[in-house]
Amino acid sequence: MTADASPSPSRAFVSLIGAGPGDPGLLTLRGAGALQNADVVLFDYLANPELLRFCPQAETIYVGKKGFSEYISQAQINALIVQKAQENGGQRVARLKGGDVFVFGRGSEEAAACVEAGVPFEIVSGVTSAVAAPAYAGIPVTHREAARSFAVLTGNTQEGGAHYERLSGVDTLVLLMGVRNLDQISADLIAAGRDPQTPAATVQWGTTPQQRVATGTLATIAERVREAGLEAPAVTIVGEVVRLRDTLRWFDTSQEFGGALAGRTVAVTRTREGASALSDVLRARGASVLEVPLIRFAPTGAEAALHARLRDLGGVSWLLLTSNQAVTALFTHLDHLGLDARHLAGVRVAAVGPSTARSLAERGVRADFVPGTPGARHLGAELPARPGDVALHLTSQVAEDELARGLEARGVRYERAELYRTEPAQPTEHVVERLRGADVVTLASGSAARHLAALAGTDFAVAAMGPQTADAARAAGFTRVTVAPAATLEALADAAAQAIRGGAAATP
Ligand code: SAH
Repeated sequence: MTADASPSPSRAFVSLIGAGPGDPGLLTLRGAGALQNADVVLFDYLANPELLRFCPQAETIYVGKKGFSEYISQAQINALIVQKAQENGGQRVARLKGGDVFVFGRGSEEAAACVEAGVPFEIVSGVTSAVAAPAYAGIPVTHREAARSFAVLTGNTQEGGAHYERLSGVDTLVLLMGVRNLDQISADLIAAGRDPQTPAATVQWGTTPQQRVATGTLATIAERVREAGLEAPAVTIVGEVVRLRDTLRWFDTSQEFGGALAGRTVAVTRTREGASALSDVLRARGASVLEVPLIRFAPTGAEAALHARLRDLGGVSWLLLTSNQAVTALFTHLDHLGLDARHLAGVRVAAVGPSTARSLAERGVRADFVPGTPGARHLGAELPARPGDVALHLTSQVAEDELARGLEARGVRYERAELYRTEPAQPTEHVVERLRGADVVTLASGSAARHLAALAGTDFAVAAMGPQTADAARAAGFTRVTVAPAATLEALADAAAQAIRGGAAATP
């Protein structure tokens, strides 16, 4: 290191990230990494908002709107990217764009704005819808026999015929942004010499649970698309490769016979970490999932007291940890104190359930006790502590009293230290808007019901994890409540499906 009197280098940096076509699994590792490091994220209509879960720390700005009109102009977006990168002495900006950055994405203009402002940037290539939407419809853009070349073109161009004649030697055409002008485009292509009998397909919302496909020929595809009611965003593929869908179709087969959740949007509310398992179950059934965090974690307001308690654990028999967040926060604080897992050598550690136990194990601590059934009540009743033992519960400011009562009833001395705080989250307007568009909202706890009501009102069909949650939901003002028949994720997904079928009315 050299001693240098110049000011510290600016953090200003822009990642122009291809978000992929919709399936969140098609984001690249580099894209996920850039999101995790971002201070600010700008995203638009075609970038799946589910990807924002990689950057809960970042300020998020929605800059795109459905259709061709723009929410804010491209010039404004360029200026905003540069401005956000330069703010606060330099920030890391992630600009999340649908598909690939440079395929009809105006990414080059955003990169040019960075160059002009002297802001360093990177391009994180993404999976383009031009290839992925056909692929998810079972259509390969090339094939050893059927197609040796493909071209990607925009249907927005006014060039028409002359433009298409230049493409006459290309086997497969993939048309983006063309669904509105499909009549004109197919007429122009036929006029430019393409056989009207060439197979054609249009794929709307490719790679997502809402994917829909219409097939026909160049002569009929516009009509088929109209009949099926397909709209933007969609790609149209023209070429012999479209025939391969008959044998290679894979992604959208199950959905045609899918249950009530196929193609529907389920909002999954979270009042703690770890709801993604439910999201996976819902996605596997074809639902589109919107994860809505209702709380966020904040530093403890009593750090001095906490640190004093942690430094000297003398006299403590048991440490009680009742969430993954508690485990994370505990090790962060130990680290601040210059300590590590060895500091816990003299105390026994209990976890509220297997997930918390796993978090401990990841940090080298094997839980001495985990109740057979997860939950504060079972921990309080079953903890193998003796009367007079001190049990220190490291938790947030809103810990349930159930654990304390259970232990005190057995003569165990319960002590609590505030390790972190939970506060109501402030979802962006965009998330609230999407929430309002959801078919059903899942609630895993009474507090989720109360937070949701405070945040976005009660005009939702909700699926509740159990009778207690359902009661809390009704008390909070929700009227369309469906109760999961058992306390499992599968049952909650069943309840969501039932709510969509209108089952809420059938539930007392
Ligand atoms: N950069 C993007 C394209 C942006 S232009 C990419 O590489 O995919 C916007 C057009 O992309 C839309 O009008 C539509 O034609 C296409 N598109 C984007 N996502 C799509 C999807 N999931 N399914 C079908 N078409 C999509």
